[in-house]
Amino acid sequence: MRAHDVIVTKRDGGRMSDQQIDWFIATYASTDEIADEQAAALVMAIFLNGMEPDELAHWTGAMIDSGDRLDLSSIDRPTVDKHSTGGVGDKISLIVVPLLAACGAAVPQLSGRGLGHTGGTLDKMESIPGWSAQMSLDEMRHQLNTIGGVIAGASSSLAPADRKLYALRDVTGTVESIPLIASSIMSKKIAEGTDALTLDVKVGSGAFMPDLPQADALARAMVRIGEAHGVATSALVTRMDDVLGVAAGNALEVAEAIDVLSGSGPPDVVELSLALAGDMARLAGLDVDPAAVLASGAGMESFEAMVSAQGGDLSAGLPVARHRRVVAAVDGGVVQAVDARRVGVAAWHLGAGRARKEDPVSATAGVMCLVRPGDKVAPGDPVLELHSDDEARLDRAAHELSAAVRVTDEPVEVPPIVIETVSGSR
Ligand code: URA
Repeated sequence: MRAHDVIVTKRDGGRMSDQQIDWFIATYASTDEIADEQAAALVMAIFLNGMEPDELAHWTGAMIDSGDRLDLSSIDRPTVDKHSTGGVGDKISLIVVPLLAACGAAVPQLSGRGLGHTGGTLDKMESIPGWSAQMSLDEMRHQLNTIGGVIAGASSSLAPADRKLYALRDVTGTVESIPLIASSIMSKKIAEGTDALTLDVKVGSGAFMPDLPQADALARAMVRIGEAHGVATSALVTRMDDVLGVAAGNALEVAEAIDVLSGSGPPDVVELSLALAGDMARLAGLDVDPAAVLASGAGMESFEAMVSAQGGDLSAGLPVARHRRVVAAVDGGVVQAVDARRVGVAAWHLGAGRARKEDPVSATAGVMCLVRPGDKVAPGDPVLELHSDDEARLDRAAHELSAAVRVTDEPVEVPPIVIETVSGSR
Protein backbone atom coordinates (compact mmCIF):
# COMPACT_ATOMS: atom_id res chain seq x y z
CA MET A 1 0.00 0.00 0.00
CA ARG A 2 1.30 3.49 -0.80
CA ALA A 3 0.11 6.74 0.82
CA HIS A 4 0.45 8.40 -2.59
CA ASP A 5 -2.26 6.14 -4.09
CA VAL A 6 -4.68 6.79 -1.23
CA ILE A 7 -4.21 10.54 -1.62
CA VAL A 8 -4.73 10.38 -5.39
CA THR A 9 -7.93 8.32 -4.96
CA LYS A 10 -9.39 11.00 -2.71
CA ARG A 11 -7.93 13.91 -4.67
CA ASP A 12 -9.79 12.64 -7.75
CA GLY A 13 -13.07 12.36 -5.86
CA GLY A 14 -13.05 8.57 -5.51
CA ARG A 15 -13.99 6.38 -2.55
CA MET A 16 -11.06 5.03 -0.56
CA SER A 17 -11.26 1.25 -0.21
CA ASP A 18 -11.71 -0.22 3.27
CA GLN A 19 -8.19 -1.63 3.02
CA GLN A 20 -6.75 1.77 2.09
CA ILE A 21 -8.51 3.40 5.05
CA ASP A 22 -7.43 0.72 7.53
CA TRP A 23 -3.85 0.84 6.36
CA PHE A 24 -3.61 4.63 6.24
CA ILE A 25 -5.07 5.28 9.70
CA ALA A 26 -3.24 2.44 11.45
CA THR A 27 0.09 3.33 9.83
CA TYR A 28 -0.21 7.07 10.40
CA ALA A 29 -1.31 6.63 14.03
CA SER A 30 1.45 4.27 15.09
CA THR A 31 4.48 4.61 12.78
CA ASP A 32 6.49 7.26 10.94
CA GLU A 33 5.98 5.58 7.58
CA ILE A 34 3.43 8.19 6.42
CA ALA A 35 4.82 11.73 6.45
CA ASP A 36 2.75 14.54 7.96
CA GLU A 37 2.62 16.25 4.56
CA GLN A 38 1.03 13.14 3.07
CA ALA A 39 -1.57 12.93 5.85
CA ALA A 40 -2.16 16.68 5.41
CA ALA A 41 -2.74 16.17 1.69
CA LEU A 42 -5.25 13.42 2.41
CA VAL A 43 -7.25 15.42 4.97
CA MET A 44 -7.30 18.39 2.56
CA ALA A 45 -8.61 16.08 -0.18
CA ILE A 46 -11.30 14.87 2.25
CA PHE A 47 -12.04 18.49 3.19
CA LEU A 48 -12.56 19.35 -0.48
CA ASN A 49 -14.26 16.16 -1.73
CA GLY A 50 -16.01 14.76 1.35
CA MET A 51 -16.62 11.06 2.04
CA GLU A 52 -19.41 8.61 1.18
CA PRO A 53 -21.50 7.63 4.25
CA ASP A 54 -20.12 4.06 4.35
CA GLU A 55 -16.60 5.35 3.70
CA LEU A 56 -16.98 7.74 6.66
CA ALA A 57 -18.30 4.97 8.91
CA HIS A 58 -15.30 2.82 7.97
CA TRP A 59 -12.86 5.72 8.48
CA THR A 60 -14.33 6.27 11.96
CA GLY A 61 -14.02 2.56 12.71
CA ALA A 62 -10.33 2.65 11.75
CA MET A 63 -9.85 5.62 14.12
CA ILE A 64 -11.53 3.68 16.94
CA ASP A 65 -9.35 0.65 16.15
CA SER A 66 -6.21 2.79 16.47
CA GLY A 67 -6.69 2.50 20.25
CA ASP A 68 -8.77 0.79 22.94
CA ARG A 69 -12.53 0.49 23.09
CA LEU A 70 -13.58 0.41 26.74
CA ASP A 71 -15.33 -2.74 27.87
CA LEU A 72 -18.35 -1.72 29.93
CA SER A 73 -20.01 -5.15 29.74
CA SER A 74 -19.70 -5.53 33.53
CA ILE A 75 -21.94 -2.49 34.08
CA ASP A 76 -25.37 -3.64 35.16
CA ARG A 77 -27.21 -0.47 34.10
CA PRO A 78 -27.88 0.70 30.53
CA THR A 79 -25.03 2.95 29.39
CA VAL A 80 -25.75 6.28 27.71
CA ASP A 81 -23.71 9.43 27.20
CA LYS A 82 -24.14 12.87 25.71
CA HIS A 83 -21.79 15.06 23.74
CA SER A 84 -22.05 18.73 22.88
CA THR A 85 -20.23 20.34 19.98
CA GLY A 86 -19.49 23.21 22.36
CA GLY A 87 -21.23 26.37 23.38
CA VAL A 88 -20.72 29.37 25.62
CA GLY A 89 -22.06 28.70 29.11
CA ASP A 90 -22.65 25.03 28.28
CA LYS A 91 -22.71 23.40 31.70
CA ILE A 92 -25.32 20.83 30.68
CA SER A 93 -23.10 17.76 31.25
CA LEU A 94 -22.75 18.72 34.90
CA ILE A 95 -26.53 18.45 35.16
CA VAL A 96 -27.49 15.57 32.88
CA VAL A 97 -24.75 13.12 33.91
CA PRO A 98 -25.93 12.96 37.56
CA LEU A 99 -29.57 13.31 36.50
CA LEU A 100 -29.38 10.26 34.22
CA ALA A 101 -27.48 8.39 36.93
CA ALA A 102 -30.42 9.14 39.25
CA CYS A 103 -32.77 7.88 36.51
CA GLY A 104 -31.01 4.48 36.58
CA ALA A 105 -28.50 4.81 33.73
CA ALA A 106 -24.70 4.57 33.76
CA VAL A 107 -23.14 7.62 32.11
CA PRO A 108 -19.45 7.25 31.22
CA GLN A 109 -18.67 10.83 30.29
CA LEU A 110 -15.04 11.06 29.26
CA SER A 111 -14.20 14.64 28.35
CA GLY A 112 -11.39 16.82 27.25
CA ARG A 113 -10.29 20.24 28.35
CA GLY A 114 -11.57 23.34 26.58
CA LEU A 115 -9.71 25.19 23.86
CA GLY A 116 -10.70 28.64 22.67
CA HIS A 117 -13.88 30.42 23.63
CA THR A 118 -15.97 27.44 24.81
CA GLY A 119 -14.98 25.90 28.12
CA GLY A 120 -14.28 22.23 28.78
CA THR A 121 -16.29 20.10 31.21
CA LEU A 122 -13.14 18.98 33.04
CA ASP A 123 -12.03 22.59 33.56
CA LYS A 124 -15.41 23.34 35.14
CA MET A 125 -15.35 20.29 37.43
CA GLU A 126 -11.74 21.02 38.44
CA SER A 127 -12.89 24.29 40.00
CA ILE A 128 -14.44 22.15 42.77
CA PRO A 129 -11.81 21.90 45.55
CA GLY A 130 -10.13 18.49 45.56
CA TRP A 131 -11.97 17.01 42.56
CA SER A 132 -9.83 14.90 40.24
CA ALA A 133 -10.43 13.90 36.63
CA GLN A 134 -7.95 11.01 36.88
CA MET A 135 -9.49 7.56 37.34
CA SER A 136 -8.44 4.02 36.54
CA LEU A 137 -10.76 1.93 34.42
CA ASP A 138 -11.64 -0.21 37.45
CA GLU A 139 -12.51 2.85 39.51
CA MET A 140 -14.65 4.11 36.66
CA ARG A 141 -16.51 0.81 36.34
CA HIS A 142 -17.06 0.69 40.10
CA GLN A 143 -18.47 4.23 40.15
CA LEU A 144 -20.71 3.50 37.15
CA ASN A 145 -22.17 0.47 38.93
CA THR A 146 -22.63 2.21 42.27
CA ILE A 147 -23.41 5.89 41.61
CA GLY A 148 -24.11 5.65 37.88
CA GLY A 149 -22.22 8.72 36.67
CA VAL A 150 -18.58 9.45 35.90
CA ILE A 151 -17.02 12.59 34.50
CA ALA A 152 -13.34 11.93 33.91
CA GLY A 153 -10.42 12.67 31.61
CA ALA A 154 -10.34 10.60 28.43
CA SER A 155 -7.34 8.27 28.41
CA SER A 156 -4.79 8.82 25.67
CA SER A 157 -5.46 5.25 24.52
CA LEU A 158 -8.92 6.21 23.15
CA ALA A 159 -8.79 6.90 19.40
CA PRO A 160 -5.12 8.04 19.37
CA ALA A 161 -5.37 8.55 15.58
CA ASP A 162 -7.70 11.46 16.29
CA ARG A 163 -5.13 13.29 18.39
CA LYS A 164 -2.57 13.13 15.60
CA LEU A 165 -5.07 14.00 12.87
CA TYR A 166 -6.65 16.83 14.87
CA ALA A 167 -3.24 18.46 15.48
CA LEU A 168 -2.59 18.25 11.75
CA ARG A 169 -6.02 19.67 10.85
CA ASP A 170 -5.50 22.52 13.28
CA VAL A 171 -2.48 23.80 11.36
CA THR A 172 -3.66 23.01 7.82
CA GLY A 173 -7.03 24.77 7.71
CA THR A 174 -8.96 21.49 7.66
CA VAL A 175 -10.83 21.57 10.97
CA GLU A 176 -14.14 22.79 9.50
CA SER A 177 -15.02 19.69 7.52
CA ILE A 178 -18.21 17.81 8.37
CA PRO A 179 -16.83 14.28 7.80
CA LEU A 180 -13.62 15.08 9.67
CA ILE A 181 -15.46 16.66 12.62
CA ALA A 182 -18.03 13.84 12.70
CA SER A 183 -15.38 11.09 12.66
CA SER A 184 -13.26 12.90 15.24
CA ILE A 185 -16.11 13.27 17.73
CA MET A 186 -17.69 9.88 17.11
CA SER A 187 -14.44 7.89 17.23
CA LYS A 188 -13.81 9.14 20.78
CA LYS A 189 -17.41 8.66 21.93
CA ILE A 190 -17.79 5.16 20.46
CA ALA A 191 -14.40 4.12 21.91
CA GLU A 192 -15.76 5.07 25.33
CA GLY A 193 -17.96 1.96 25.16
CA THR A 194 -21.40 3.52 25.62
CA ASP A 195 -24.46 1.73 24.18
CA ALA A 196 -26.35 4.96 23.44
CA LEU A 197 -25.47 8.55 22.73
CA THR A 198 -27.36 11.84 22.51
CA LEU A 199 -25.58 14.61 20.65
CA ASP A 200 -26.17 18.31 21.22
CA VAL A 201 -25.22 19.99 17.95
CA LYS A 202 -25.05 23.73 18.52
CA VAL A 203 -25.82 26.23 15.80
CA GLY A 204 -25.42 30.00 15.84
CA SER A 205 -22.97 32.79 16.46
CA GLY A 206 -21.39 31.16 19.52
CA ALA A 207 -21.11 27.71 17.94
CA PHE A 208 -18.75 25.81 15.71
CA MET A 209 -21.52 25.48 13.09
CA PRO A 210 -22.76 28.92 12.07
CA ASP A 211 -25.86 27.88 10.10
CA LEU A 212 -28.64 25.31 10.27
CA PRO A 213 -27.90 23.37 7.03
CA GLN A 214 -24.34 22.74 8.24
CA ALA A 215 -25.46 21.80 11.76
CA ASP A 216 -28.13 19.50 10.34
CA ALA A 217 -25.58 17.82 8.04
CA LEU A 218 -23.17 17.32 10.96
CA ALA A 219 -25.97 15.90 13.14
CA ARG A 220 -27.03 13.45 10.40
CA ALA A 221 -23.44 12.37 9.69
CA MET A 222 -22.80 11.64 13.38
CA VAL A 223 -26.10 9.78 13.86
CA ARG A 224 -25.29 7.59 10.82
CA ILE A 225 -21.81 6.83 12.16
CA GLY A 226 -23.16 5.90 15.60
CA GLU A 227 -25.81 3.61 14.16
CA ALA A 228 -23.26 1.97 11.82
CA HIS A 229 -21.22 1.09 14.92
CA GLY A 230 -24.12 -0.30 16.93
CA VAL A 231 -24.55 2.74 19.19
CA ALA A 232 -28.15 4.01 19.48
CA THR A 233 -27.61 7.65 18.54
CA SER A 234 -29.69 10.77 18.16
CA ALA A 235 -28.92 14.46 17.87
CA LEU A 236 -30.66 17.60 19.04
CA VAL A 237 -29.77 20.67 17.01
CA THR A 238 -29.92 23.57 19.47
CA ARG A 239 -29.60 27.35 19.36
CA MET A 240 -26.32 28.94 20.41
CA ASP A 241 -26.73 32.62 19.58
CA ASP A 242 -27.14 33.67 23.20
CA VAL A 243 -25.12 32.52 26.17
CA LEU A 244 -26.69 29.41 27.66
CA GLY A 245 -27.96 30.45 31.08
CA VAL A 246 -26.38 33.26 33.05
CA ALA A 247 -22.82 32.12 33.79
CA ALA A 248 -19.82 31.64 31.48
CA GLY A 249 -16.71 30.60 33.40
CA ASN A 250 -15.61 27.52 35.30
CA ALA A 251 -16.68 27.86 38.97
CA LEU A 252 -19.51 30.22 37.94
CA GLU A 253 -20.96 27.48 35.73
CA VAL A 254 -20.61 24.83 38.44
CA ALA A 255 -22.62 27.09 40.75
CA GLU A 256 -25.31 27.45 38.09
CA ALA A 257 -25.42 23.67 37.47
CA ILE A 258 -25.88 23.18 41.24
CA ASP A 259 -28.74 25.71 41.15
CA VAL A 260 -30.47 23.69 38.42
CA LEU A 261 -29.93 20.40 40.26
CA SER A 262 -31.37 22.08 43.36
CA GLY A 263 -34.58 22.97 41.54
CA SER A 264 -33.93 26.54 40.36
CA GLY A 265 -31.53 27.97 37.75
CA PRO A 266 -32.11 29.74 34.42
CA PRO A 267 -35.11 28.45 32.41
CA ASP A 268 -33.11 27.85 29.18
CA VAL A 269 -30.61 25.65 31.04
CA VAL A 270 -33.45 23.68 32.62
CA GLU A 271 -35.22 23.37 29.24
CA LEU A 272 -32.15 22.07 27.41
CA SER A 273 -31.09 19.77 30.26
CA LEU A 274 -34.51 18.13 30.32
CA ALA A 275 -34.68 17.83 26.52
CA LEU A 276 -31.31 16.07 26.41
CA ALA A 277 -32.02 13.97 29.51
CA GLY A 278 -35.37 12.88 28.03
CA ASP A 279 -33.67 11.76 24.84
CA MET A 280 -30.93 9.92 26.76
CA ALA A 281 -33.50 8.14 28.93
CA ARG A 282 -35.43 7.09 25.79
CA LEU A 283 -32.30 5.74 24.09
CA ALA A 284 -31.34 3.90 27.28
CA GLY A 285 -34.78 2.28 27.39
CA LEU A 286 -35.63 3.82 30.78
CA ASP A 287 -39.26 4.53 31.53
CA VAL A 288 -38.68 7.59 33.75
CA ASP A 289 -39.47 11.28 33.63
CA PRO A 290 -36.22 13.20 34.16
CA ALA A 291 -38.23 16.30 35.19
CA ALA A 292 -39.75 14.39 38.11
CA VAL A 293 -36.34 12.97 39.07
CA LEU A 294 -34.86 16.49 38.96
CA ALA A 295 -37.69 17.85 41.11
CA SER A 296 -37.17 15.05 43.66
CA GLY A 297 -33.59 16.21 44.34
CA ALA A 298 -32.17 12.79 43.36
CA GLY A 299 -30.03 14.36 40.61
CA MET A 300 -28.35 16.63 43.16
CA GLU A 301 -27.70 13.65 45.43
CA SER A 302 -26.02 11.84 42.52
CA PHE A 303 -23.92 14.93 41.77
CA GLU A 304 -22.75 15.13 45.40
CA ALA A 305 -21.92 11.42 45.36
CA MET A 306 -20.00 11.74 42.05
CA VAL A 307 -18.03 14.73 43.33
CA SER A 308 -17.05 13.16 46.64
CA ALA A 309 -16.16 9.81 45.01
CA GLN A 310 -13.60 11.74 42.95
CA GLY A 311 -12.13 13.62 45.92
CA GLY A 312 -14.17 16.80 45.61
CA ASP A 313 -15.49 18.76 48.58
CA LEU A 314 -18.53 20.90 47.85
CA SER A 315 -18.76 21.97 51.49
CA ALA A 316 -15.48 23.87 51.02
CA GLY A 317 -17.36 26.28 48.72
CA LEU A 318 -16.43 27.25 45.19
CA PRO A 319 -13.60 29.72 44.60
CA VAL A 320 -14.59 33.33 43.85
CA ALA A 321 -12.71 35.97 41.86
CA ARG A 322 -10.84 38.75 43.67
CA HIS A 323 -12.16 41.44 41.29
CA ARG A 324 -15.50 42.20 39.64
CA ARG A 325 -16.59 44.87 37.17
CA VAL A 326 -20.11 45.71 36.04
CA VAL A 327 -20.84 46.63 32.41
CA ALA A 328 -23.85 48.96 32.06
CA ALA A 329 -26.38 49.29 29.23
CA VAL A 330 -25.74 52.24 26.92
CA ASP A 331 -29.22 52.28 25.35
CA GLY A 332 -32.58 51.46 26.80
CA GLY A 333 -35.04 48.99 25.26
CA VAL A 334 -35.71 45.27 25.16
CA VAL A 335 -32.73 42.89 25.14
CA GLN A 336 -32.63 41.17 21.76
CA ALA A 337 -29.47 39.08 22.22
CA VAL A 338 -26.55 38.51 24.57
CA ASP A 339 -23.91 37.67 21.97
CA ALA A 340 -22.53 34.26 22.88
CA ARG A 341 -19.31 34.58 20.92
CA ARG A 342 -18.37 37.94 22.42
CA VAL A 343 -19.12 36.73 25.94
CA GLY A 344 -17.19 33.51 25.34
CA VAL A 345 -14.15 35.35 24.01
CA ALA A 346 -14.29 37.82 26.93
CA ALA A 347 -14.54 35.00 29.49
CA TRP A 348 -11.60 33.34 27.77
CA HIS A 349 -9.53 36.55 27.93
CA LEU A 350 -10.48 36.97 31.59
CA GLY A 351 -8.72 33.64 32.16
CA ALA A 352 -11.52 31.04 31.94
CA GLY A 353 -10.17 29.40 28.77
CA ARG A 354 -6.85 28.55 27.19
CA ALA A 355 -5.26 29.38 23.83
CA ARG A 356 -2.87 26.38 23.85
CA LYS A 357 -3.61 23.04 25.43
CA GLU A 358 -0.81 23.40 28.00
CA ASP A 359 -2.06 26.80 29.31
CA PRO A 360 -3.54 26.93 32.84
CA VAL A 361 -7.13 28.13 33.32
CA SER A 362 -8.59 30.22 36.09
CA ALA A 363 -11.33 28.60 38.16
CA THR A 364 -12.85 31.95 39.10
CA ALA A 365 -12.77 34.03 35.90
CA GLY A 366 -15.86 34.56 33.79
CA VAL A 367 -18.89 36.61 32.88
CA MET A 368 -22.34 36.71 34.48
CA CYS A 369 -25.10 37.84 32.13
CA LEU A 370 -27.43 39.89 34.30
CA VAL A 371 -30.06 40.23 31.56
CA ARG A 372 -31.65 37.75 29.17
CA PRO A 373 -33.30 38.23 25.77
CA GLY A 374 -36.74 39.71 26.33
CA ASP A 375 -35.73 41.69 29.47
CA LYS A 376 -36.31 45.46 29.55
CA VAL A 377 -33.28 47.65 30.32
CA ALA A 378 -32.75 51.37 30.88
CA PRO A 379 -29.49 53.20 30.07
CA GLY A 380 -27.04 52.65 32.92
CA ASP A 381 -28.62 49.38 34.12
CA PRO A 382 -26.06 46.68 34.90
CA VAL A 383 -26.14 44.05 32.12
CA LEU A 384 -22.96 42.03 32.58
CA GLU A 385 -20.65 41.33 35.51
CA LEU A 386 -17.02 40.41 34.82
CA HIS A 387 -15.01 38.26 37.24
CA SER A 388 -11.22 37.86 37.35
CA ASP A 389 -8.36 37.46 39.80
CA ASP A 390 -6.31 39.71 37.50
CA GLU A 391 -7.68 43.25 37.60
CA ALA A 392 -5.79 44.29 34.46
CA ARG A 393 -7.82 41.86 32.36
CA LEU A 394 -11.11 43.51 33.29
CA ASP A 395 -10.55 46.61 31.11
CA ARG A 396 -9.94 44.62 27.94
CA ALA A 397 -12.91 42.35 28.57
CA ALA A 398 -15.18 45.31 29.36
CA HIS A 399 -14.14 46.85 26.04
CA GLU A 400 -14.82 43.59 24.15
CA LEU A 401 -18.24 43.38 25.72
CA SER A 402 -19.39 46.92 25.05
CA ALA A 403 -21.57 45.73 22.13
CA ALA A 404 -22.43 42.24 23.42
CA VAL A 405 -25.90 43.10 24.70
CA ARG A 406 -28.09 44.26 21.80
CA VAL A 407 -31.31 46.10 22.55
CA THR A 408 -34.28 46.94 20.34
CA ASP A 409 -37.49 48.96 20.54
CA GLU A 410 -39.49 46.02 19.15
CA PRO A 411 -40.99 43.23 21.27
CA VAL A 412 -38.66 40.21 21.45
CA GLU A 413 -39.92 36.66 21.21
CA VAL A 414 -37.42 34.09 22.43
CA PRO A 415 -37.56 30.96 20.22
CA PRO A 416 -37.35 27.45 21.75
CA ILE A 417 -33.82 26.23 22.30
CA VAL A 418 -34.22 22.89 20.49
CA ILE A 419 -34.55 23.46 16.75
CA GLU A 420 -34.82 19.86 15.56
CA THR A 421 -34.15 16.27 16.58
CA VAL A 422 -32.36 13.84 14.27
CA SER A 423 -33.09 10.29 15.39
CA GLY A 424 -31.43 7.06 14.47
CA SER A 425 -33.40 3.89 13.83
CA ARG A 426 -34.19 3.17 17.50
N1 URA B 1 -14.40 18.47 18.38
C1 URA B 1 -13.70 17.36 18.13
O1 URA B 1 -13.53 16.51 19.00
N2 URA B 1 -13.20 17.18 16.89
C2 URA B 1 -13.38 18.06 15.90
O2 URA B 1 -12.92 17.83 14.81
C3 URA B 1 -14.11 19.23 16.18
C4 URA B 1 -14.61 19.41 17.43
